[in-house]
This record gives sequence, C-alpha cells and structure tokens, in this order.
Amino acid sequence: MSADPIPRMRREGLLFDQSVPGKRGCGIQAAGVPEARPLDAKFTRKEIEGFPELSEREVVRHFTRLSRLNYGNDQGFYPLGSCTMKYNPKVNEKVARLDGFAEAHPLLPEEAVQGSLQLMAEMEKFLCEIAGMDAFTLQPAAGAQGEMTGIRMVRACHESRGNPREVVLIPDSAHGTNPASAHLCGYRVEEIASDERGCVDLASLRKRMSEDVAVLMLTNPNTLGVFEHEIGEICRVVHAGGGLVYLDGANLNAFVGVARPGDMGADVIHINLHKTFSTPHGGGGPGSGPVGVKEPLARFLPVPRVVRAEKGYRFRSDFPDSIGRVHCFYGNFGILIRAYAYILANGADGLREVAETAVLNANYIRKRLEGTYHLPYASPTLHEVIFSDRNLEKHGVRTLDVAKRLMDYGFHPPTVYFPLIVKGALMIEPTESEGIQELDAFADAMIRIAKEAEEDPEVLHAAPHSTPIGRLDEAAAARKPVLRWTPDLSHKP
Ligand SMILES: *Cc1c(COP(=O)(O)O)cnc(C)c1O
Repeated sequence: MSADPIPRMRREGLLFDQSVPGKRGCGIQAAGVPEARPLDAKFTRKEIEGFPELSEREVVRHFTRLSRLNYGNDQGFYPLGSCTMKYNPKVNEKVARLDGFAEAHPLLPEEAVQGSLQLMAEMEKFLCEIAGMDAFTLQPAAGAQGEMTGIRMVRACHESRGNPREVVLIPDSAHGTNPASAHLCGYRVEEIASDERGCVDLASLRKRMSEDVAVLMLTNPNTLGVFEHEIGEICRVVHAGGGLVYLDGANLNAFVGVARPGDMGADVIHINLHKTFSTPHGGGGPGSGPVGVKEPLARFLPVPRVVRAEKGYRFRSDFPDSIGRVHCFYGNFGILIRAYAYILANGADGLREVAETAVLNANYIRKRLEGTYHLPYASPTLHEVIFSDRNLEKHGVRTLDVAKRLMDYGFHPPTVYFPLIVKGALMIEPTESEGIQELDAFADAMIRIAKEAEEDPEVLHAAPHSTPIGRLDEAAAARKPVLRWTPDLSHKP
C-alpha cells in the first residue's frame, strides 16, 4: 500500500509491453497490379523478435506523452545555477536551419562554403572583442572540452619554455570539470581555500605560488555568484611566479558587455556559447566551448584555423606548434550560428543589458527569499544566488525536499548541493529572460514550501506528487544502470 494520498499520473510503459499480436500501424490496399519478382527469401527477414505491434494512434500517443514528461525552458522557469539556462530566441533556430548552413556538408570545398567560413572568422573576432583576448578557436564542443584544450595549450607553452611544471591550482568552489581537465592533461591538482566572503584567499595563494605551478584555474564570477574583486592582484601574483591564469568563462553572463576577462589578466579563457549566447542545452545536448588566448599562446591553438586569404576564407593547418585537432571538422557549427545570431541581434549595448538584467533578476530573488532561506555568503550577488537549507533543518526538511516539491508547483528545481563548499546549497540563476511575474511566482512557491516545512513536512518528504515516478534511487541508478531492455517472450509459443 502506498502512503501517497494523491493519485499519480499514469506511468508511461514501454511500447514493447503495450504490444498486441497482429496489430498494425497502417494497412495498404492491394494495388491491383502484378507483384514484382519477390526478393530471394534468404535475403529477407521474416520477423524482428519481440518487435512491438501497435496501432498508429497508440504510437503517436506514446511519444506525445513521453515528450510532455520532459520539462523545458519553453515550458516554464528553469533556474539551474552555474548553467545559464536562458531563453533561446526562435530566430536563432530559423537562421541555423537556413539551407545554406544546414545542408553544407563538412567536406565541401572551401570555395563552396565561404559564408560559413566568414561566419566562423567573424565569430572569432566577436569573441576576441567581448572577452578581450587576441585569438580564438571555435572547435571545442563544450566548456569541459574547452578547459582541456586550454590546459593543453598551457602545457605546450610551458614546455616550449623548458618546463611543463606540475601543479594546477583550483579554488575549492570550482566546477568539477576544472580538476578533471587539469588531471587529464597530466597535472596534479591542488585546492586553494576560499575566504569568508567566498573569494580566493589571496594570502593562501601568495604562500602557495611557486615555480611548480603551471596555471591557476579561476571562475569569475565564481560559482557562489560572487565577483573575485581581487582578480587583478590574483593574476599579478600568478604571473610573478611564472604561472598562467585560466579563466573559466561559464559565468560570463554576469558581466558580458560590462567587463572583459582579458583586461583582468587572464591568459586563456573558455566561453560556453550554449550558456551565455543562448542555445538550448542540458541532458548532454550539443554545446560549444570556444577557447580564447593572449598572443603568446596563439601559436598553440588547435588546427585547422580559419584565415582570411587573398581569395576569400581558408582553413589552414600549417601551424607547427599547434596542439593539433580537438574536434572533427570545426566544432559544433550549428551552435556557432545560433550564438552569432544572438550576438548580432543584441549588439554591444544589448549584451550589456543582458548582464545588467541577469544581475538585477538574481538580486530580486535574493531580496524576496533572504528572510526565509539561509544565505551562507553575504557578499554582493551577481548573476546567481546561493541559499542553503539551514533554516529548514529543524523541521527535518532538506534541500532535496525543496527541489522535489518545486516540481509540484510547476518549476524546474534549481541546482542543488553545488557548490560543494555550501552545505545543502540551492543555487538559483534566473537569467535575464524572466519577467517579474515569473520571478514572483517562483519566489511565492519557495516561500510556501518553507511554510509547508514548518506545518506539514511530510508533504515535502513525499514530493513530488505530480509526476509519474516519485523519488529515484539515484545511487543505484548511477551504479547499476539498466541500459538494455530484454523482450519478455514467455507468452509466445
Ligand atoms: C557549465 C560549467 C562548466 C562546464 O561546461 P560544459 O559546457 O557543461 O562542459 C565549467 N565550469 C563552470 C563554472 C560551469 O558552470
């Protein structure tokens, strides 16, 4: 017996299990013309074992129901932090689907795709201008691959000076991809502590900086949504020790058009086009993580590079110091088109407004919730705000309960339990896309949930109530994934 008082939405089974022998999706009338000579039976398959037999309507309904289980940005508020889940203007999709782009085969000769090459060359220029860097590669398929590309260039640069060095310094608030990328490039990772404001502890950095440090990987604003206000001094300390500064630009939405990482002292940066410059993402969908460098590192950029030659744009691979290819052809081109359209549509002043509105929205959420939810860092908030479940603990309610209950109120939950340095973190990033009505509706739901925690915590423990499945055993799902469906043929003779 279930203790759940509210009936759940019907659970969508597998098509295989809905199969009824003999059912057909469609039938075709006999044509009344003689059949062509049939294919030799040894070349044809009689039956696919276990293949589901259903009517067309059943198949259509099955997939329509499944599609409705998927929550998307076009459906409602999607406040994941550290991920900038902003609205993707529909014009981007239209532009990316233009025949000249969508049907351009990557093996076409350069003369036939001059428009696409021009878009890439201009995109690199835009990004240089936006980030304050000297050169970009558009190849990496996501931020994580951008990090790996960037750190490989850092290694190549140090090697060219005679010593690749050994250590990558990373603040304890960093995204997990940072240490993973450093490790993949053969470096040992050392953590730098954050101070009580949530920023890099400059004294620890000064003490640790020495000749074995290859690079500091820094996210700015960091994953607490706090601007590293001593970034200038941080870069000076690292540079004075002969190290380089890698800036994780995933949070560029906080200051795009306002400030430039290159001016802050960064030597290498990645930008997540699928975050700052629209494009739907999530669930591992296609992304793009261009990497920008200052001039001394440009000779290590991946090949091929797009260059302006006498007769139009060309791919060039004759860069002897290049780290080589990091992606087939030239990266996820479709994402470049969307980002290009977004940048042109906004213009310089529009991009600045994006950042200003994103920061305003995050601060609005902060103001509405700060009396109700515990705010672990008092530092000024930029584009995202982090709360914790500390005020709810006394009712036995945790961050996960709040996140699951939000689904009943029609919202995608925010990022939970990240950054790791905040116990029970709730990380909310509204982005510039949301109007005040949606922000208020979300804040109202959050406040109502806090009240429920006080009055009826059981409702929260059993949440979500409005979905076909409640809580999953996430540990088992990760450790014992069921990836193969085996047809149950026991009912067949
Ligand atoms: C999203 C993110 C990354 C990784 O980028 P992907 O495009 O998801 O690979 C790295 N660092 C930070 C701070 C991020 O938010």
